[in-house]
Amino acid sequence: MRARRVLSRRAVLTGAVAAPFVAGASRAEEARIVVVGAGLAGLAAAQALQAKGHSPLVLEARERIGGRVHTSLAWPDLPMDLGASWIHGVAGNPITELARAAGARFVATDLDADRTIGPDGATISPDLSGAERIVRGALKAAQGLDRDISILHAVETSAGWRAAPERERRLVRHVLNATIEHEYGGPASQTSAWYGEESDEYDGADAIFPAGYGQIAAHLAKGLDVRLGQPVRRIAPGRVTLASGESVAAGRIVVSAPLG
Ligand SMILES: Cc1cc2nc3c(=O)[nH]c(=O)nc-3n(C[C@H](O)[C@H](O)[C@H](O)COP(=O)(O)OP(=O)(O)OC[C@H]3O[C@@H](n4cnc5c(N)ncnc54)[C@H](O)[C@@H]3O)c2cc1C
Repeated sequence: MRARRVLSRRAVLTGAVAAPFVAGASRAEEARIVVVGAGLAGLAAAQALQAKGHSPLVLEARERIGGRVHTSLAWPDLPMDLGASWIHGVAGNPITELARAAGARFVATDLDADRTIGPDGATISPDLSGAERIVRGALKAAQGLDRDISILHAVETSAGWRAAPERERRLVRHVLNATIEHEYGGPASQTSAWYGEESDEYDGADAIFPAGYGQIAAHLAKGLDVRLGQPVRRIAPGRVTLASGESVAAGRIVVSAPLG
């Protein structure tokens, strides 16, 4: 009985893969792997699949590859990264390996050498060490609580904050904005004091690409079948449906679009 159930289930699955969901699709099209998204994740997945002998089809919504890696060439003599800029820690970082394979030159930078410019164009470069200490102290104290709270709440109820004069508090707000809210894309009032700063890091220097991060995306896209301007609207077994209404047959589908 059990064996029969398995057999009939397998038959259904086989039927699902082989059935011509998309009118006119060839067997090769029905078996192919479709990758949704041509950011670095989608391109890397497609490269890995191609290396294993598959012929993946990459469908990208935008008219360019790279996703959140985007080098603007509006000023041809000054490539400008509008998305990712740094290899954060070059040692053991897979991007370093890709950069070498792509022949993309990268140079070490000192992130602490940044300058803060005020609205009048004057360099402010305040000493943020006191403000950073207050934030670190608040997060450390929050680890000892029996329930999680937001980073903002942790800071504003900390001993360091209570003792800080208004000027120091402004710097604390700047640190929260520049290092938490910009980095994680959400308000400090909604970011966990327990887990908000949790991440792994690579060793080594932080490095940027003088000719742009886009070189990595271009390298990963080499030899792939990437179709631009193809937003995927729907995914069902055996096919994806594009915004145009067109159906694309797919034996397997890899979705690399961000959760948001
Ligand atoms: C401003 C900024 C600065 C950053 N700085 C750094 C940095 O210095 N160093 C670093 O390591 N990381 C940095 N990051 C993070 C890094 O850019 C991302 O982690 C990485 O690029 C994500 O790649 P991904 O392929 O997962 O996603 P994405 O790059 O978002 O790619 C997803 C792709 O899917 C496409 N897509 C979405 N929906 C559909 C759909 N329905 N149909 C078809 N296609 C679809 C999108 O158009 C996009 O091309 C930064 C990010 C930003 C935004």
